[in-house]
Amino acid sequence: MSLPHRAWIGLGSNLDDPHGHVERALAELDALPLTRRHRASSRYASRPLGPADQPDFVNAVAELETRLSPLALLDQLQALEQRHGRVRGRRWGPRTLDLDLLLFDDRKMTTPRLTLPHAEMMKRAFVMVPLAELAPELRLPDGRDAASLAAALDDDGLRRVLPQAD
Ligand code: ATP
Ligand code: MG
Ligand code: MG
Repeated sequence: MSLPHRAWIGLGSNLDDPHGHVERALAELDALPLTRRHRASSRYASRPLGPADQPDFVNAVAELETRLSPLALLDQLQALEQRHGRVRGRRWGPRTLDLDLLLFDDRKMTTPRLTLPHAEMMKRAFVMVPLAELAPELRLPDGRDAASLAAALDDDGLRRVLPQAD
């Protein structure tokens, strides 16, 4: 089965066994309809963005192939977050699972539900470092590649916590 679109997902968790949420979510991404997960980055630990009175995050980036549209994929990602018991509390507060759609082919869109590329991704070491690990030459919309963008960011204490699993 050949799937026409390539999507990049940023995963994050800092509640109730964050490693467990990330590992299960990586497997579940491969089980989404009309979707196949290819590679996943190493897992990283990062300090929380925003409110500091919460645990560190486990982060990773995954590469998908899909036949879904961007909004249908977002629906699936949000349903997966819900199945992990995600409760929407304060902005950037602790969560069991965050699945952000970073890139979908070279699609650009700004709608209330979905902004592509993800609006903050290029500023975040916990997104750009794992993305650059998987795809250093990937071009972002500003024309720069993922490796140069990642190298230019302050690492904010980001550290690799497990070897690359697949
Ligand atoms: P941030 O987006 O800054 O990382 P967050 O991940 O904590 O913050 P959420 O609570 O997960 O934010 O999502 C808030 C809203 O963002 C969602 O309702 C969703 O519709 C919207 N959204 C817009 N663009 C995207 C995207 N590229 N990926 C995921 N959600 C998005
Ligand atoms: Mg997020
Ligand atoms: Mg999110």
